[in-house]
Amino acid sequence: MKKIKTFSHRITTWYDLFGRKTLPWQLNKTPYKVWVSEIMLQQTQVATVIPYFEKFMTSFPNVVALANAKQDEVLHHWTGLGYYARARNLHKAAQLIRDRFNGKFPVQFSDVIELPGIGRSTAGAILSLSLGKHFAILDGNVKRVLARHGAIEGWPGKKTVENRLWALAENLSPEDDIQKYNQAMMDIGATICTRSKPRCEDCPVNQDCKAQLQGRQTEFPGKKPKVEKPVRTTFFAVIVSNGKVLLKQRPQQGIWGGLWCFPEFSTNTELDEYLLSRNIDLSTVSELSGFRHTFSHFHLDISATLINLSNKTNQLTEPDCEYSGLWYSLDNPEKVGLAAATEKVLAEVKISRG
Ligand code: SF4
Repeated sequence: MKKIKTFSHRITTWYDLFGRKTLPWQLNKTPYKVWVSEIMLQQTQVATVIPYFEKFMTSFPNVVALANAKQDEVLHHWTGLGYYARARNLHKAAQLIRDRFNGKFPVQFSDVIELPGIGRSTAGAILSLSLGKHFAILDGNVKRVLARHGAIEGWPGKKTVENRLWALAENLSPEDDIQKYNQAMMDIGATICTRSKPRCEDCPVNQDCKAQLQGRQTEFPGKKPKVEKPVRTTFFAVIVSNGKVLLKQRPQQGIWGGLWCFPEFSTNTELDEYLLSRNIDLSTVSELSGFRHTFSHFHLDISATLINLSNKTNQLTEPDCEYSGLWYSLDNPEKVGLAAATEKVLAEVKISRG
């Protein structure tokens, strides 16, 4: 019992001296602000999140404003942050809060965890950080600190390992000061107990950290068993006409759901057939740089072909019947959500225009 008390005491004392207290979502805290920040911070570093968060709050200052926005507008604010399912879920959850909870962010754990995109740790973080409710958290940073401090073997994606870490997180959480303690654990994970070079000399719990005492810090948490990712290929048709590029909205399900992308073909032959069927002179098209985009479950090798309709020999008209969509202006871009791969190709197209 004494050790547990000592652990949280050391953590909160460290927070008083070194913890982050002035991040934009920590000022005038509300469940809404903490929720948006927690979702943005998943897979993304604080420094990257800050400008996105500030712009998001200016455009959508409360749950109802977010719920009433168009999905395209929300995705536009997310362009560049990646993992777009986060933005789609945030938008869907805001609509549920507007319709079921009268626009007020729910304060019961069981209601919060039902919202799309919110798991146990995020629900705990929102309620503890914004309202001081007593819930443990276990995000990636906290997992690393606890796995190292207790030398918990195994990959945390495995249920038994995750359960051990949750038990530890619950046991170590103090009765008082939960807000401070949870924030401190996240800060220590992000700034001291870092993935590859932990600064153990500055860590408040180094005296009894098992990984540190054994010199095995980077062995924890255990690595995910390696599985070779399959490689898929796709061919983008980058159709340009009078400073505009033809984009098509992706279906909601699947990769880049709801975002705007180029017309896409699964083989080069399909792309050539498409162009020939529209009397496009193949000698007028040119290849842009290809690249690989990696998703969590596969690699996608992307080739992009530039087709300039300004060339008089080409017959494709606006809007093309099969791929009617958005003629996206290169000079005055519409506010829509773009897939990261779309942005990358657009940057090359802009450079090629000089
Ligand atoms: S002593 Fe080192 S390894 Fe252990 S929790 Fe602190 S920073 Fe992490």
